[in-house]
Amino acid sequence: MTTSIDRSALQAPQNVWDMAQQQLDEVAHLIGLTEGIHLFLRQPKRVLEVSVPVHMDDGRVRVFTGYRVQHNMARGPAKGGIRFHPDVTLDEVKALAMWMTWKCALVNIPFGGAKGGVICDPKAMSMHELEHLTRRFTTEISIVIGPEKDIPAPDVYTTPQIMAWIMDTYSMQKGYSIPGVVTGKPIAIGGSLGRDKATARGCLYVVDEAMKMLSLDATGARVAIQGFGNAGMHAATLMAQAGYRIVAASDSRGGVANASGLDVRGLVAHKTETGSVVGFGGGEAISNKDVLECDCDVLVPAALEKVITAQNAPNIKAKIVAEAANGPTLPEADAILHERGVMVLPDILANAGGVTVSYFEWVQDLQENFWEEDEINERLKQKMTRAFRETHEQAKRHDVNMRTGAYAVAVERVAEATRLRGLYP
Ligand code: GLU
Repeated sequence: MTTSIDRSALQAPQNVWDMAQQQLDEVAHLIGLTEGIHLFLRQPKRVLEVSVPVHMDDGRVRVFTGYRVQHNMARGPAKGGIRFHPDVTLDEVKALAMWMTWKCALVNIPFGGAKGGVICDPKAMSMHELEHLTRRFTTEISIVIGPEKDIPAPDVYTTPQIMAWIMDTYSMQKGYSIPGVVTGKPIAIGGSLGRDKATARGCLYVVDEAMKMLSLDATGARVAIQGFGNAGMHAATLMAQAGYRIVAASDSRGGVANASGLDVRGLVAHKTETGSVVGFGGGEAISNKDVLECDCDVLVPAALEKVITAQNAPNIKAKIVAEAANGPTLPEADAILHERGVMVLPDILANAGGVTVSYFEWVQDLQENFWEEDEINERLKQKMTRAFRETHEQAKRHDVNMRTGAYAVAVERVAEATRLRGLYP
């Protein structure tokens, strides 16, 4: 049938790198970027591809492929996480690096953007194999990273333990401890209080601002969360504590829903014990996909890219979509949601809490002076609410959605730094 053919054509996965460049192009015209700066910002500054040989537990050697992409360093050292996932591609890492540039500029921290990735399935690897993969990957990218030039951090399926191995490997090669080379570390080796929950906390702060702006009451407001990793799980906990009602949650294996509110503490315990939200007794089973279209006020995509499409965007019932994941919304879905009056809090705003506290961690490491958690959360709140306000002002001024508003703020900051520094040589 024609309809189904059309639908599948629309569902064809769009390349995320095209998507990232398209988002920049849209704002370039809006803010009157000169062609030279526009072309410069459309490309990454550096791309490094590495082969990572690892002795596996069965005695064989496997060679993994990894990347580190530095998109831009006009405002400071490059910053961004490392992802371990079977679907990593160079184009994806390039897109994620570009989004880091805008994210750091939007919350006004003195960093550029970078990202790393290794094509691997960490769920199918032992701790021993993961450690060797991490240490060899770190060694291969050590020619471009360092506390003054490029600082990695956690991303999808990478953990504080993995950050500890990165810190140790880099330090062993230099002959002394260099905690500032990576953020998201365990507290005992120079990590920051509040970093583990920072992405979720930042997301909560901007959702709170959006709720106020739309004159909605947070108490009892229904929240659906797709993805139950670091961002999604902590978002569920913090939002429940703040009075929101978590009505649905899912991970890569499936989901669970309860219209009168899930017992989040029980759900987190179940996830920690079994590795999934699936099978949790306090709700009925729901598919990962259906979570996006369920009855709720706030939808938090907190997993991977390209999950909100032209197909499901018309069915989304939420009034606010808070992108805890990077790149969850395709451009055509963005347009549909905007038209329908859904406020999308874009990734570079909604998940910027993580890199903001990464910045605090790096500052504390360089100063060898550590702050209390209250102070960290307060500083995070200031940065997030200011970024929300600036985004909203630009969105209103240009009569565009919040994503383009956020890009207007961020891209202009990077462009200004580029103009001031001039084109070398
Ligand atoms: N991976 C996170 C992000 O996408 C955090 C990056 C960081 O802390 O440098 O924003």
